[in-house]
Amino acid sequence: MITTPVWAADCTPVDFLTLPLPSGDDPVVTALRVAYPGLTVDAQGVTLADGSLIALGEDRSRDPAARLANPTLREQFHDIYPLRFDLNARMDAWHDPGRARVEPLFAALYGGTEQAVRASLRKVAISGKASASFLISERHGAACQMRAALAGVQALTIDWAPAFRNVAGSFNWRQIAGTSRMSTHSYGIAFDLNADLGGYWRWSKRPEGNAGPYLNRIPQDVVQVFERHGFIWGGKWHHFDGMHFEYRPEVILYARLMGQAAP
Ligand SMILES: [Zn+2]
Repeated sequence: MITTPVWAADCTPVDFLTLPLPSGDDPVVTALRVAYPGLTVDAQGVTLADGSLIALGEDRSRDPAARLANPTLREQFHDIYPLRFDLNARMDAWHDPGRARVEPLFAALYGGTEQAVRASLRKVAISGKASASFLISERHGAACQMRAALAGVQALTIDWAPAFRNVAGSFNWRQIAGTSRMSTHSYGIAFDLNADLGGYWRWSKRPEGNAGPYLNRIPQDVVQVFERHGFIWGGKWHHFDGMHFEYRPEVILYARLMGQAAP
């Protein structure tokens, strides 16, 4: 028996594919403002609680490996996430929408130390044809959105159970394999479904920038339920990580602002 977690009383899930969006502003600013109410965002960038500024900076159109290693806030949005179930866009080398991250932003949103992140983690579970639970931060609505997404998956008529068997984890304070960058698993906003179905570019022994084909086995409907709730999927990355999802509503909203049609 899984115990039901306690939620903030004001947890109202948001549909990021239909949420009305203001127009006219810089789409990067709008995406960040709408995704993270309470975050101070203006034309200069994001001002943190201690008064320091994460500048928007420029998209310097430089070497994608360098951009990935140390992006500006604007470069974090360089690749546009396909909202349709389009696995062709990822065939362009380095097309990894959402994979570049400005670490101080995520530290500010979810906590800069393991202890700080842990303090906000909540257990969110799915049950029925398969049972799994995930530790997700309650900050910025992530756990609230996760709970709604799992309810959405549970309501699907397709056989979603295999993807939720032997799930590969959620919160884990660690760096991304082979890099010195922090994984979004560190911030309590990422989770991995069944690794046997997932597919991960590093396991394919292909070089960075030439990750090759990705054979998807995660159901499209499952992916779409998560996207609707603000989670992006690593199966749409050139450097594919098919088991991996992370809470990045700004990536979904930016895609809409840039004219991507929601499915
Ligand atoms: Zn992952």
